Amino acid sequence: MTDPVQRRRAYGGIEAGGTKWVCAVGTGPDDIRAETRFPTTTPLETLGRAIAFFRAAQVDEPLEVLGVGSFGPVDLDPTSPTYGFITTTPKPGWAQTAVAAPLQQALGVRVAFDNDVNVAALGENRWGAAQDCAYTVYITVGTGIGAGVLIAGQLLHGLVHPEVGHLRLPHDWQRDPFPGNCPYHSDCLEGLASGPALAKRWGQPAETLPPDHPAWPLQAHYLALALVNLICTLSPQRIVLGGGVMSQPQLFTLIRSEVQRLLNGYVQAPAILEHIDQYLVPPALGGRSGVLGAIALAQQALPLTGREASITST
Ligand code: ADP
Ligand code: ZN
Repeated sequence: MTDPVQRRRAYGGIEAGGTKWVCAVGTGPDDIRAETRFPTTTPLETLGRAIAFFRAAQVDEPLEVLGVGSFGPVDLDPTSPTYGFITTTPKPGWAQTAVAAPLQQALGVRVAFDNDVNVAALGENRWGAAQDCAYTVYITVGTGIGAGVLIAGQLLHGLVHPEVGHLRLPHDWQRDPFPGNCPYHSDCLEGLASGPALAKRWGQPAETLPPDHPAWPLQAHYLALALVNLICTLSPQRIVLGGGVMSQPQLFTLIRSEVQRLLNGYVQAPAILEHIDQYLVPPALGGRSGVLGAIALAQQALPLTGREASITST
């Protein structure tokens, strides 16, 4: 439910993805007042389209705060000169791109900035599949693999932020001779189990592999190894699995039984032993986890004070 005080306010949210951006104004899933989505092209054009959308929205009602969940890697250290930048991405034209500052300057609002998966974790926790779970992991399995982690209701940052996609896993070379395709580690989780890794191993796009293909038990094995490591280190109350590859419905059944097999009864929690179908779950906000999470991020931040706002807009 949206807080009645929040309801009168307007927050902006951007899911800044490597393929597309989704922008929205509102206060939650039952109160989206404007929304747009467009492909990610050049930084100038893409930021320009977002700014034009929010400027038009601000004619009716000024935004309190704009939340942004961006593809990365991103710089989240507020003391760094490149805070709010997309840093070393291989995406052409986007390395070392300022995202937060141009939005803040053009729109005169505080920008709350985080990475795409942290923000999706926040959205699913606030309104989606992980409500009332202060310890939540959200994993996306798509072009890359990444996870956002919520601990005691707070997004986990630390030294940088968790890089779950690059967990190192046991690799049975007899069962799986594919060497992996991560440019840094070859056979880390992302190198073995991202959509492009599946396509390379099996010689066809992941979405064309039939449900009974041996690709899926192997995929479930790798994801379950990573999930067991996360369960043992972070003790999440629920894990949400999203991204293009997870739209294979049979994967959930395979992963749940593989997680139970690998844990082998060690974690004595009913959530895992008896109700694993409610423990490892798909997202509930569909394609909106990111943009709604960005609005949730904005709602957690304080608006600019009058003086800061006048400095920013000059
Ligand atoms: P991105 O990670 O780029 O934001 P997605 O989450 O949609 O976008 O992930 C894209 C990847 O997911 C691609 O590698 C694609 O092959 C794979 N994918 C998309 N749909 C499916 C599907 N139905 N089954 C398996 N893999 C899929
Ligand atoms: Zn890696």
